[in-house]
Amino acid sequence: MSLYADIVLPLAQPAYTYAVPERMTVVVGQAVAVQFGPRKFYTGIVWRTHDRRPDFPRIKSVHRILYPDPLLTAEQMALWEWIASYYMCSLGEVMRAALPTLMKPSGETEEEFAEEEFRPKKEVYVALDVALRDEERLHEVFEKLERRAPKQYEALLEIATAGDDTRIATGEIARRLLQADYAVLQALARKGFIRQVEHERRVERGNSNFRLPKLSEHQVAALSRLQAQFASGKSTALLQGITGSGKTEIYIHLIAEMLSRGGDVLLLVPEIALTAQLIDRMERIFGSRVTPFHSKLTNRCRTETYMRLNHSEGGEFVVGARSALFLPLKRLRLIIVDEEHDSSYKQSEPAPRYHARDCAVMMARLYGGHALLGSATPSLETWLNARIGKYGMATLSERYGDARLPQILVSDTLRAARRGERHSHFNKLLLDKIEETLERGEQVMLFQNRRGFSPYVTCTECGWTARCPSCNVTLTYHQRGGGRLICHYCGHTEVVPVKCPSCKVTDVVSKGFGTEKIEEEIARLFPEARVARLDRDSVTSERAFRNIVADFEQHKTDILVGTQMITKGFDFGGVSLVGILNADNLLNNPDFRAAERAFQRMMQVAGRAGRRSEGGEVVIQTAEPTHPIIRQVVAGDYESMAREQLAERQQFFYPPYARLIALTLRHRDPELLRRAAGELAARLRGRFGNRLLGPMAPPVDRIRGEYLMNLLLKVESGASSARAREIVNGELKELFSNPSFKQITVIADVDPQ
Ligand code: ADP
Ligand code: ZN
Ligand code: ZN
Repeated sequence: MSLYADIVLPLAQPAYTYAVPERMTVVVGQAVAVQFGPRKFYTGIVWRTHDRRPDFPRIKSVHRILYPDPLLTAEQMALWEWIASYYMCSLGEVMRAALPTLMKPSGETEEEFAEEEFRPKKEVYVALDVALRDEERLHEVFEKLERRAPKQYEALLEIATAGDDTRIATGEIARRLLQADYAVLQALARKGFIRQVEHERRVERGNSNFRLPKLSEHQVAALSRLQAQFASGKSTALLQGITGSGKTEIYIHLIAEMLSRGGDVLLLVPEIALTAQLIDRMERIFGSRVTPFHSKLTNRCRTETYMRLNHSEGGEFVVGARSALFLPLKRLRLIIVDEEHDSSYKQSEPAPRYHARDCAVMMARLYGGHALLGSATPSLETWLNARIGKYGMATLSERYGDARLPQILVSDTLRAARRGERHSHFNKLLLDKIEETLERGEQVMLFQNRRGFSPYVTCTECGWTARCPSCNVTLTYHQRGGGRLICHYCGHTEVVPVKCPSCKVTDVVSKGFGTEKIEEEIARLFPEARVARLDRDSVTSERAFRNIVADFEQHKTDILVGTQMITKGFDFGGVSLVGILNADNLLNNPDFRAAERAFQRMMQVAGRAGRRSEGGEVVIQTAEPTHPIIRQVVAGDYESMAREQLAERQQFFYPPYARLIALTLRHRDPELLRRAAGELAARLRGRFGNRLLGPMAPPVDRIRGEYLMNLLLKVESGASSARAREIVNGELKELFSNPSFKQITVIADVDPQ
């Protein structure tokens, strides 16, 4: 019998030791209720049991076992430990990210905990009521609803068109399929238009006869190469394939193979925006085997998924965002990371600040499975690993079928301006191309790196600019809602002043430009064209997103203006022209990854042109037409870009040749902060020498009223990063032993993006 248990609580604290009451047997990985602090109860995870009495006087006991079966496997526990150690956070912080909210209740009393939460629930499905099978009756109902309850109308329409066999679950799955609220479904049920059927989620495991796409010769070669490399002991491989080459088809074959052998598969996608399209595509082949998992699902749904998988017999296929890494897939053998270069795989706030791709690589080793990293423009880290043979690698260098790569034209903005061929933000070349494209009845996509109408407002008389009162940053002008200034850091908003508040002489004007302004100008220049915009402001919900995408897909709109959102893997057949309005603000970022990112982004945008049609075109507007990155984009030459950038990274000692640990110190008192940062820097410099940079104030050095100071540590890739982290932790402890620094917040970000 174990007497004590080390228990992980969802806090930024180390595991805490509790006594195990005599008649209780706890198991590692189990969820238990424990008291922490004077009043509060938390869910904790039993991490270790032992008989060593800790040396504090009063030892609290485990209150109750919340659920009999362990919530974590040994592999999951190893993953949590690796993340906590590598990303310099507590196991409790990993727990916060890893377990769905409902599975970690906390409260004032122990009664607030119910085992109920952990039970896999039955799902409720809905179907059209029998009465509405009658066409005429259905038509009547539709007419009534369309006027009086448009939301119910749309939901009912969706259910009706889904057909008799397709039962649609309520709750979250319904929202995805129906884009309807639970309340809307309830209303329809009350009126007797739909009925609800409760039953277990049915997953047909026996059937592995998936209808797979037939692969082209190139695809077959790439697939066999990957299989051979996995078989020969490589746990990770890179699939580098240009956009439209059919990487997804290769994924599908690997997934089918794994599922039919009873293994679990995890397919990670960088953003929710993309998951919807990919899930649809996967469901067409794998049907009910597909389990979606991302942040837009309700807490209830995420808990259900977790608990269902915890009891699964294998053969599971999860498609999800980065947090899907933490699901209990007991037979996980294949993890695919699509668009592996995407920086949104890194969680930057809050801890754990983990990179899902790197975790996937680690997990492949932990589970004895394989990780496949797919991209048209891999991160330099991954590409280098593939080059030196650490990872396997296969390439697809041709588009599938007779789709051709677009032709890329560079348009010099300065030259256009000199010749009077620049109209607001468009060079004549781009305007001519747009006109031709619209005349041919084809579609246009315009990419602008910034959202908002214009980045800032300023006074032409005295130079005053509108700034956020609590962050050191200019406010962004948004035209929506009659013109508002918004802080992109803290969300502060205010109205645009009519007269300059500083000199009171002139009207303020907006400077720079964003998607909203482009949309407005395009509408003015091409009054006949139907224009839509896709960015974080226009996409207020998943529904809004889907509508904008669907309208463009069905050619209800001609021109789509957008931010990076449009650069993701959309497959719009009718787009034959893509315009990049300002390549310069991509290139001129003060970040060592700027060139790599600019290349990736431009290639990705360019990849949207001519997916199916002949001769797609891309126009890049830039003031630096001879910039090496622009030339490499035009030539589609990833390798030259990679070699050139890697040479620079090596010279200036940046990843992948160095590992970075960024430390940010925060406090309201700038003087105290400066002293703390100075002392920490001195301590670390004593240990690391000139591998430590700083302290320096970041470009935005005040956020939400707190001042910021940064330190950056660069450690050789070959050196022990574990040792480096240990030293940093030791020095932080020393720093905090000075009571005046206790209130300083320090954030460590390992491998910052
Ligand atoms: P990628 O993911 O590399 O950008 P996709 O997998 O999306 O490329 O493929 C691009 C287009 O070509 C898609 O419309 C896809 O359905 C089609 N395609 C690719 N390979 C095949 C294949 N083997 N059979 C049928 N269609 C294919
Ligand atoms: Zn602010
Ligand atoms: Zn002024």
